[in-house]
Amino acid sequence: MTAAVFVTITCHYCRRQRAPLDIIPLPGGIKMCLGCYHQHREACNVLSGKPPTECSECHTAFDDIPRDAGGNVRLVVHYEGGLYKCMCLPCSDVYIPKRRDLYGPTEYGWKKKLV
Ligand SMILES: [Zn+2]
Ligand SMILES: [Zn+2]
Repeated sequence: MTAAVFVTITCHYCRRQRAPLDIIPLPGGIKMCLGCYHQHREACNVLSGKPPTECSECHTAFDDIPRDAGGNVRLVVHYEGGLYKCMCLPCSDVYIPKRRDLYGPTEYGWKKKLV
């Protein structure tokens, strides 16, 4: 007789325990469940339909952000409650420590010393 072992993985986005088959591993050690993935896809569609033009936190227009050596504006996209927030780098640095729940258990979190 074999005992059924239920292994669950915590989704980093919604913090729910999910079966491994319902988890999509993302780069950087982030785990996303299928439910969140569908939300993610919808959020991406929103983004592609109407791209934001300013930082969601300080409202600096992306056109006003200094470009890097390659002439690109560096932005960071954060996921919150089914929506993506585009932030400039200084706002992102302020935001990340507030989201230990999301970034703490990832390689990214370790690099940022969140855990
Ligand atoms: Zn989830
Ligand atoms: Zn900003």
